[in-house]
Amino acid sequence: MITPLLPTYARTDLAFDHGKGARLFADNGEEFLDFGAGIAVNALGYAHPHLVEALTGQAQKLWHTSNLYKIPEGERLAERLVEASFADTVFFTNSGAEALECAIKMARKHHSAIGQPERYRIITFEGAFHGRTLATLAAGRQEKHLAGFGPVVEGFDQVSFGDIEALKSAITGETAGVLVEPVQGEGGIRPLPTAILKQLRAICDDTGLLLLFDEVQCGVGRTGKLFAHEWAGVTPDIMAVAKAIGGGFPMGACLATENAAQGMTAGSHGSTFGGNPLAMAVGNAVLDVVLADGFLDRVRQIGITLTQKLARLKDEFPNVIEDIRGSGLMIGIKCRVPNTEFVQACIEQRLLTVAAGDNVVRLLPPLIISEADIDDAIACIETACAQFADNATVKQARA
Ligand SMILES: *Cc1c(COP(=O)(O)O)cnc(C)c1O
Repeated sequence: MITPLLPTYARTDLAFDHGKGARLFADNGEEFLDFGAGIAVNALGYAHPHLVEALTGQAQKLWHTSNLYKIPEGERLAERLVEASFADTVFFTNSGAEALECAIKMARKHHSAIGQPERYRIITFEGAFHGRTLATLAAGRQEKHLAGFGPVVEGFDQVSFGDIEALKSAITGETAGVLVEPVQGEGGIRPLPTAILKQLRAICDDTGLLLLFDEVQCGVGRTGKLFAHEWAGVTPDIMAVAKAIGGGFPMGACLATENAAQGMTAGSHGSTFGGNPLAMAVGNAVLDVVLADGFLDRVRQIGITLTQKLARLKDEFPNVIEDIRGSGLMIGIKCRVPNTEFVQACIEQRLLTVAAGDNVVRLLPPLIISEADIDDAIACIETACAQFADNATVKQARA
């Protein structure tokens, strides 16, 4: 018999009651160190006083008015995002997929507005993940996500990860833009090399295509810069963000240059909930913290510390860990054992991590973690690795 909750998730048998900082407390009282952060969402950890104050303060005043009226906190947040990025304008959404939908629609509308409506196709890279709506599924082109949901939305082409020659060949008179994650998240923490990002920018400039970045997972401080593309010194025309931008409150945004946003006039796009006062209050509070002096410096420093300690574990357990990759606090452990078993072994040590593609385990801790949290996590991972190594020795001895 089907469960009352649609069974689309293979959930771990754990439920949490409350959290504090980087710690989650299960309803049975067990304490977990959270290096998954709700899949890169809880950037400031749990019960951050500034976010709690912003949300509860706004909750006392006004939750929702609709976009029929002005929302001053939204105007303020948009101004701050524009000030801190390449963008000239921002549309607020409730999720990552909706931010991508806005980005895709905007790319099409741009070309339509400048008199070339035949340019509507978007090229993506293999391993991409852009969401679960029909268009973002078509963009990501993952067989397992598309199965049974056909026909696939028209207008998306895909080439091998980082393959510039294949990308050039895929461009036709119908191409509107290129959509990539500067660091693939679900794909397994696969950063696009700076040289590739630079070439993408040049190709788009030469051919009149728009460059779209999906920073839903890698954005908002995760890599130690406000946006991951800042590492490469390459800016997009349109960018989708979400996950961390609301610090746990459901929220996303589509940022764009004035040129890219041509055609996005009154009535062309909308959302009932997008940019509502609760989300905007929390979004501003997240930025207060992330943009404060020294915050991102610290993310970079502590990210290096974590990566170095993981590299040591990789040396110690070469049969368990193949590679450590990523930047800031977006780190992938490429495993030589099944990644789902690795995640499970970490849970047994009371450490939460997230599996990803390419047999990778993601470490996406809250950006506020302490050195002590890192040492605790490393101890858990070391124990998990030792168990796998012991099992391997036992298996070898038996063989
Ligand atoms: C999570 C994610 C999305 C989809 O976001 P939702 O909020 O689940 O719709 C899109 N792109 C990337 C890179 C993501 O990590």
